[in-house]
Amino acid sequence: MSLLPRLPTLAPGTAPESAIRDQFGRVKRKLRISLTDRCNFRCPYCMPEQPEFMERADRLSRAELARVLRLFVVGLGVNRLRLTGGEPLLRRDLESIIADTQALKAEGLERVSLTTNAALLARRAPALKAAGIDDLNISLDALTPATFAKLSGGRDVKPVLAGIAAAHAAGIPLKLNAVIIRGINEDEILPLAHYAVRENLPLRFIEFMPLDGRGEWSRDRVVPQADILAQLSREFAVKALPRGNDPAAYYQLDAGNTQQIGIIATVTNPFCASCDRLRITADGSLYPCLFSPRGTSLRDPMRAGADDAALAALIRGTVWNKDAGYIAHPGYVERPIAMNSLGG
Ligand code: SAM
Ligand code: SF4
Repeated sequence: MSLLPRLPTLAPGTAPESAIRDQFGRVKRKLRISLTDRCNFRCPYCMPEQPEFMERADRLSRAELARVLRLFVVGLGVNRLRLTGGEPLLRRDLESIIADTQALKAEGLERVSLTTNAALLARRAPALKAAGIDDLNISLDALTPATFAKLSGGRDVKPVLAGIAAAHAAGIPLKLNAVIIRGINEDEILPLAHYAVRENLPLRFIEFMPLDGRGEWSRDRVVPQADILAQLSREFAVKALPRGNDPAAYYQLDAGNTQQIGIIATVTNPFCASCDRLRITADGSLYPCLFSPRGTSLRDPMRAGADDAALAALIRGTVWNKDAGYIAHPGYVERPIAMNSLGG
């Protein structure tokens, strides 16, 4: 029996005939692809203590990425692409990978986005803009240097703030994301909100998900959406906005401008019923869900000579079998893969 009602994520007629669907009727239009599992940070909520990184030869090459991305856009109806990691700025060919995607904008691709910790962004922002990046998600979990260091494995917040300023100067739209963990950075919620208001930057708070490479997640370390709202309400009048087709619930702050704050409540209010995302690891494994127990390698058949039709059939079958998601087993903790490998 189906755990979910059939909930198409798009109004009839807006998804192309070729669009991929899962067994619950959810159409997939967004693809997140990890370019590397390596990172210059060691965020404890993400990275294992002793990470074993994949060999470079195991990663999808620029040419393999271009082939896979073309197939998803032209053959399978994906229209939003997010490049992530690990830390994608560690890939020297990042600008070339972005430039390769630009031809797909004539084939239905609407946006190419990047998720980054921004520590290496300041120097590269103009080149990313020139390559065609449409927007950035920048992780910023704290402004207080000691708390930032705790959450990044001893790194400095200053280069990240410089990266944000450089992206702004280069004309790249950006959003900030902050993972909030009980006992570590709850007291950063208000300072981050004030920073976002001051800089006029969109900010989203993210509940801590059970995908940390160290296996230290527990429910009592999650700061739920309700607690984040309660903190914001201490200093702002907060008005809920109508829920759109977005993992975040949005709120308007009466901050003298149109500042909106989002909360991604994967644990206390999962958005699985309307999930339109797919994920691919840097070594080319397709994970239809963050909580999929295993991936399906696209790289191996590709390297064994599979043609696009065979790859597309493999992708459609894998996506069709996508599980209901976290909604089906809230509180169930399985850590098949850490976030630095899966790509957040
Ligand atoms: N290195 C880049 C960065 O940090 O933005 C991109 C990769 S990172 C895995 C992508 C996103 O996943 C980040 O916003 C990070 O905060 C989030 N993330 C990692 N582990 C998480 C967890 N256990 N729960 C919630 N979000 C997590
Ligand atoms: Fe690196 Fe991003 Fe994971 Fe932090 S969250 S360790 S920056 S991949």
